[in-house]
Amino acid sequence: MNKIALLTSGGDAPGMNTAIRAVVRRGIFKGLDVYGVKNGYKGLMSGHFTPMDFKSVGDILHRGGTILQSTRCDEFKTEEGQKQAIAQMESAGISGLIVIGGDGSFQGASKLNDKGFAAIGIPGTIDNDISGTDYTIGFDTAVNTAVDAIDKIRDTASSHERTYVIEVMGRNAGDIALWAGTCAGAESIIIPEAMDDVDDVIDRVQRGAARGKIHSIIVVAEGVGKGHELGQVIEERTGFETKVTILGHFQRGGSPSAYDRMMSTQMGAKAVDLFVEGVSGVMVGLKNGKLVHTPFKEALENKRTIDLDIYDLARSLSI
Ligand code: ADP
Repeated sequence: MNKIALLTSGGDAPGMNTAIRAVVRRGIFKGLDVYGVKNGYKGLMSGHFTPMDFKSVGDILHRGGTILQSTRCDEFKTEEGQKQAIAQMESAGISGLIVIGGDGSFQGASKLNDKGFAAIGIPGTIDNDISGTDYTIGFDTAVNTAVDAIDKIRDTASSHERTYVIEVMGRNAGDIALWAGTCAGAESIIIPEAMDDVDDVIDRVQRGAARGKIHSIIVVAEGVGKGHELGQVIEERTGFETKVTILGHFQRGGSPSAYDRMMSTQMGAKAVDLFVEGVSGVMVGLKNGKLVHTPFKEALENKRTIDLDIYDLARSLSI
């Protein structure tokens, strides 16, 4: 019987547990033995494989985080580290690996595949920053969390007639800021892929005030940062009281949204099906609403893009 291993790696994301459940149960359905590896590539190198049965993934699909836990592991970036991981899997009779993680994790999976070990990736990161897919597991929940927080801040911004600069996560990608800012009706959205200058941000705050708006919300992506400096400049130049809130890691937690659950269920099952069909060296993705798979190399080489039409739309709605 074929044995496969499964791990989560890099930053955790809501929906990883749902994907774990899907991989384990689809694997069993397809006649595979599935082994969980704790702590990402670190656990893989030390050869800690835990058999996962149907029940082992019960009652997890709605929980944030990852039951397999996730660690960053620099040793795995070396040739020796990768060879050690392969030797561990081979001595346990394992012939395939499914990795749920971001592009760093896929760099690692791709190197295992180059060395002849079948590896398949499932995109799991709140940042939505992976080429080869329009969507990554956890993004929808993170956006909803950010929107909920911004709505709450808007209540108090309104009561006190304040301007708020709100920094959201996303590493070098502006997707969470773009979506959360658009869905929460921000005056300005500042993302690494399209930088508004400070004068423009201030103009928008002032134009809003001139037409009677009593609060302003500015959403800044983590990849741009400098939220505190921006808040200070806005306050000095407009005279409006300006507060800065950095939403931080709570965007990484929480129960996955229905959309994240659906996508991680489908992507998890697809990864197993691909393995059974003899396909490897690919990541599963969603393109134009359809499940697809893309070779790691292609996904990692191509620069991903953000939908700047949404950015232009959001700007046109807050002139
Ligand atoms: P993410 O997968 O979320 O992008 P990281 O970039 O931190 O997260 O990568 C997670 C892990 O993947 C790293 O700790 C390391 O073990 C492995 N990894 C990252 N980059 C490489 C690489 N170039 N070669 C081999 N393994 C890598």
